[in-house]
Amino acid sequence: WIQLGGHTGQFHVFFCCGTIMKLCDDKSLELNSYRKIQSDPMCNICPKFFHHVERNGQTYIELEDLLQYFTDPNVMDIKMGTRTFLESEVTNDTCRVDLYDKMIKICPKEPTEEEHGKKAVTKLRYMQFRERMSSTANLGFRIEAIRLQGQSPNNNLKTTRKRDEVMQFITEHFMKGNKLICEKFLRRLRHIKVCLESSEYFKSHEFIGSSLLFVYDELNEANVWLIDFAKTQSTPNMDHRKEWCCGNHEDGYLTGLDNIISVSLCVCVC
Ligand code: ATP
Ligand code: MG
Ligand code: MG
Repeated sequence: WIQLGGHTGQFHVFFCCGTIMKLCDDKSLELNSYRKIQSDPMCNICPKFFHHVERNGQTYIELEDLLQYFTDPNVMDIKMGTRTFLESEVTNDTCRVDLYDKMIKICPKEPTEEEHGKKAVTKLRYMQFRERMSSTANLGFRIEAIRLQGQSPNNNLKTTRKRDEVMQFITEHFMKGNKLICEKFLRRLRHIKVCLESSEYFKSHEFIGSSLLFVYDELNEANVWLIDFAKTQSTPNMDHRKEWCCGNHEDGYLTGLDNIISVSLCVCVC
């Protein structure tokens, strides 16, 4: 089994029955999402959800292992949306030294003079910096991590930012110019779009930090699923394409999906 994102210890994989167990957060947002998705068109584009179990005071959800259908697969985790933090996570205007340190590691020139003076930045400032450094802000998605056949995962791609760079990376490095794979991905992405646009659940929730998991192998099996609903919460009348301003909760998910479809389309026709 291959885990691209998340923390180690978050998953238990049961190879015999084709399922994984994912640890839930305190509020069990992900468990609630999977429960509600079962009676929505979204259930066709997410891993199957079986049940939840309590173990040592912690809640786990048992999900379909999406990699079981593949042999030594190529896997890519694309984090969706133009916003990667919950509004409730950034109301705090405390300046943090740890986030300043992380910021200067990525880009020493980024902090303002005032921030350099304090050697600290707010969480909002840091998160928006990360969104601008990656393709999140301009494309509504970013390559979070990738694993190629026979190799170990690479999650050092968060500064791949420009449309051309992202496209080249996905088409040449991940899909290796394979048009058949690309067509399968494209067909599935269009199906995902139809499902989401007809989903009541999608319309009434913001999707923060959620991913599309792309998987294919040398037998030309290929598929894409939605995963990671740990920060998915109820918000009425979402558009998913409008720009975010604090209070409207917009996440830019469909903006990202439109863009990733157009990137895949370019590979197919090139
Ligand atoms: P983070 O919030 O840091 O992204 P997380 O702990 O919420 O991580 P996920 O994003 O759900 O965890 O999953 C982490 C990784 O585990 C994914 O990138 C993927 O590689 C793998 N993974 C998750 N769910 C499945 C699944 N159902 N089948 C196969 N692989 C999975
Ligand atoms: Mg994730
Ligand atoms: Mg997560």
